[in-house]
Amino acid sequence: MSDKKILQFAPFESFVSPTFWHKLAELKLDYDRLSDTARSIFGHYTNRKASGCLLEVDYSAYNSEAQPPKFSHAAVGHIYNKNTIEEFKTLDKTALLADEGRQLLADMSSGRALNDASLLTRFFVLSFADLKCHSYYYWFAFPCPLTPILQLLNDPIKLKALPNCDACVDAIRTLPAEAQNFFVLYADEGANVCEARSLSAALSQFDEQQAEHYYYCFADPSEYENPAWLMRNYVALLLQQCPTLVGKPLKFLGLRYDQQLQLDNSLIWHVSQAEACNYAQLQFVGWEANRNGKMGPRMANMRDSMDPAKLAENSINLNLKLMKWRLVPDLNLNILAETKCLLFGAGTLGCAVARNLLSWGFKHITLLDSGKVGYSNPVRQSLYTHADAVAGNRMKASTAAAHLLEINPSAVTKGYVLEIPMPGHTIGEALRAQTTQHLQLIEQQLQAHDVIFLLTDSRESRWLPTLLGAAHEKIVINAALGFDSYLVMRHGGTREPVGDSPKDIAGLKCIAGQQLGCYFCNDVTAPGNSLKDRTLDQQCTVTRPGVSNIAASYAVELLVALLQHPQRELAPAYYANSRAGQHLETPQLPEGLLGILPHSIRGMLCNYENILPATQKFAQCIACSQRVLAAYRSEGHEFLFKTFETAKYLEDLTGISEFKRLNSEIIEFDDDQFDMSENED
Ligand SMILES: [Zn+2]
Repeated sequence: MSDKKILQFAPFESFVSPTFWHKLAELKLDYDRLSDTARSIFGHYTNRKASGCLLEVDYSAYNSEAQPPKFSHAAVGHIYNKNTIEEFKTLDKTALLADEGRQLLADMSSGRALNDASLLTRFFVLSFADLKCHSYYYWFAFPCPLTPILQLLNDPIKLKALPNCDACVDAIRTLPAEAQNFFVLYADEGANVCEARSLSAALSQFDEQQAEHYYYCFADPSEYENPAWLMRNYVALLLQQCPTLVGKPLKFLGLRYDQQLQLDNSLIWHVSQAEACNYAQLQFVGWEANRNGKMGPRMANMRDSMDPAKLAENSINLNLKLMKWRLVPDLNLNILAETKCLLFGAGTLGCAVARNLLSWGFKHITLLDSGKVGYSNPVRQSLYTHADAVAGNRMKASTAAAHLLEINPSAVTKGYVLEIPMPGHTIGEALRAQTTQHLQLIEQQLQAHDVIFLLTDSRESRWLPTLLGAAHEKIVINAALGFDSYLVMRHGGTREPVGDSPKDIAGLKCIAGQQLGCYFCNDVTAPGNSLKDRTLDQQCTVTRPGVSNIAASYAVELLVALLQHPQRELAPAYYANSRAGQHLETPQLPEGLLGILPHSIRGMLCNYENILPATQKFAQCIACSQRVLAAYRSEGHEFLFKTFETAKYLEDLTGISEFKRLNSEIIEFDDDQFDMSENED
């Protein structure tokens, strides 16, 4: 007894590709969320030029079918990814291992493992993903029944030492590579027979007479003198299927390919298990030791291995994706990431809107502005710094686009320096060619985007984008500021409506999305040159600083809510019927994914109040009425130049000349104007 050695096995070492963690993070954020049920995964190991005794996992682990790389074999596993580090720590490891072990035994006794031998190479991962820090705590286990010891009957011999080695190799090579993980080689030297048989063929009709000629073959990922860990389960399967083999000498052939795909280094172990196994009371082993050789989990930090831009993108998405875990599971973040936004104006409002768009995961942002960054800008216009002003020649549009990239490198930003032509702002012959160029650029950009934001500093500069937005069926979001008031609105859609008309709700009025007015619909005055005859405080937007941030935030939130609505800009606007409201309780406004969808938000800082008026399209609107759109469509730039010449042209065209001029309560100016005049000097 004492001269007999005990066969020991080379334990598996887990080898985790960073892509395994990246994929786990993605699945956790997008699919599993709060669920921590086990996921089926696959690993793989190779017996070609093996180093160590590795079991590898990468992103393909989560595929629905095992797809091991070439010269590799599949291992079957689970990942138990816990929601908190506490659950990860306190989980009963013994029970989990025993549970996995019993599943392994069940696969053996049911015969499943005979048909799919990869079930013998079983593993699982207990993990906790700290997605915020990109840290992954994990512990691999390779469950194995604690069966009686195997005696090594003599030193392992190399395959090439067998006299019938060539015949054996030829027989092995008749099997396709994927079937070489576990099989039986029947090699009767005397009868000169050598053939490879599948496990199910050899073991389900086990012939004891032939057993002495059997080599139990397996793809051996071990580079050591000891066979890989997976042979343990192989022995257990064999003795469970064929109990008469207990106490008999058995030959195991660990196949090891070299670089040239030769099998010369393959080893044969002659072993015997003296005692039968009590399957009812089996214990299991298999937790992997950590890098210090102790029983304990490991930690992988992916932060350093990630491209900073990718890291930022993942982290930005993290905060958004967490919304979907509990708060808004149906939130469609892809729509936001794909929607292209064009901002008219890169001043206080433009900067704030752009930053809010980034916060929501919008990636495509283009800014149009003619101004330079001036000294008065940085404190209010959040995308500029003092250094931009000192440089003296930094244009807002391009500077803002560049700074947006510094905030989120994966954004797609662009800035164009151009003047927005305005009604009543006569264009001299000298500037006509340049204006035409700018018009073409504006039209081209408008067509290339899905949403336009009107964030300029004057009423008249909103006219052209309002008209173009309507003509090109874009979503238009408008924000305008007063001293302590603001207006944020969505323009009515011009797209052909599809589907049912909005449902009636008792006590509420409703305007269909395509019937909603634009910024100019409430106004019977064509925009003229409002910069004339104004003192400095009238030319610059003198506003309480918070007003622009509030308005910009509302503008972006309104857009996000609109994009989540199935009808988008054609979503109807409901509002309380005030007469009914005097006597009855006002019914609840219908809510979309993110709440109600008003037409406009008018707010005041003096009493911290918002009202949500909805207004109809005005048939004689100077910006969105059919007559104006038709004139633009038929005459194009010719028509536009006529309006630039004199705003009266629009009043005559739409027939509002006879309407009395009304004063707008809202002041239109942004503090941009100050710098424009300063810089133009
Ligand atoms: Zn209108």
